[in-house]
Amino acid sequence: MKNTIKCKNCSSLNFCKKGFRRTEHRGKIQKYYCKDCHKFFTNDDGFYRMRNNEKIITMSIDMYISNLSSRKMRNQLSRHLNTKISHMSILDWVRRYTLKVSKFVDKLGYNMGNSFYADETLIDCGGRDDRFWCCIDWDTRLITGVHYSLSGNPIEAQKFLFKSIQKGKPKFIQTDGGVFYPKAFRKLFYSNKVGGLTVEHKIQNASVTKIHNYRIETVFMKIKDRVDDFRGLKALWSAPILMNALIIQHNFIEAHTTLDEVPCNRAGQELDLGENRWLDLIKLSSS
Ligand SMILES: [Zn+2]
Repeated sequence: MKNTIKCKNCSSLNFCKKGFRRTEHRGKIQKYYCKDCHKFFTNDDGFYRMRNNEKIITMSIDMYISNLSSRKMRNQLSRHLNTKISHMSILDWVRRYTLKVSKFVDKLGYNMGNSFYADETLIDCGGRDDRFWCCIDWDTRLITGVHYSLSGNPIEAQKFLFKSIQKGKPKFIQTDGGVFYPKAFRKLFYSNKVGGLTVEHKIQNASVTKIHNYRIETVFMKIKDRVDDFRGLKALWSAPILMNALIIQHNFIEAHTTLDEVPCNRAGQELDLGENRWLDLIKLSSS
């Protein structure tokens, strides 16, 4: 993992180390002197001007996305690390760094397989049934796309499928028997030249075939568990950011239980992240 340092003012690489800036919460920070524009600067490793230690910040983000509520997280920090932080600060970190890392990982390419699996979950929002859509590449277990909507119809299905193929088109996408899928597939994938769909639509109708794909089910179950407990998802304004946080956590942070590998590595993205993967991802996104 490398974080290229350059001058904040003129982007010059012609600089030298020159003293330290003292910070209250993050210790001594290296100062640099630019020999071209003659100004001092410090390197922004992603935590510039943050009032808290980067380890506390990344631990909070990691644990929050792994299902600890921001209030519980605040209490843990207070009990074990004697650190007083409001639960709003924790939500703020999750938003800030999810956006930063999302921008970085959106630019990455992946080697994916030919079979994608798509699934939707209904989210009970007290009278309103929202839908969380998720698509996974079987070979790498990478989440290729997610979508959040207030209803299930061909237009939302189309938006979801479109997002899911931005980093690579599979040979087929398997869905359940949702009535909105066939129309969405025709709109997105029908070609006159081919005389059919360019991406095959496989429907897995469990009540007819009595066949379940248990292996892919376990991946979806894990994601569904997250989504169900994610209270913030039900506040619509925060749903897009939290969905991105889930993608990052799944694709880049947590090793798959049976494969013991992180999906991004299986897709050919060895980012050389250390033990604290959120910390290194944030640093990479900041360089
Ligand atoms: Zn300079």
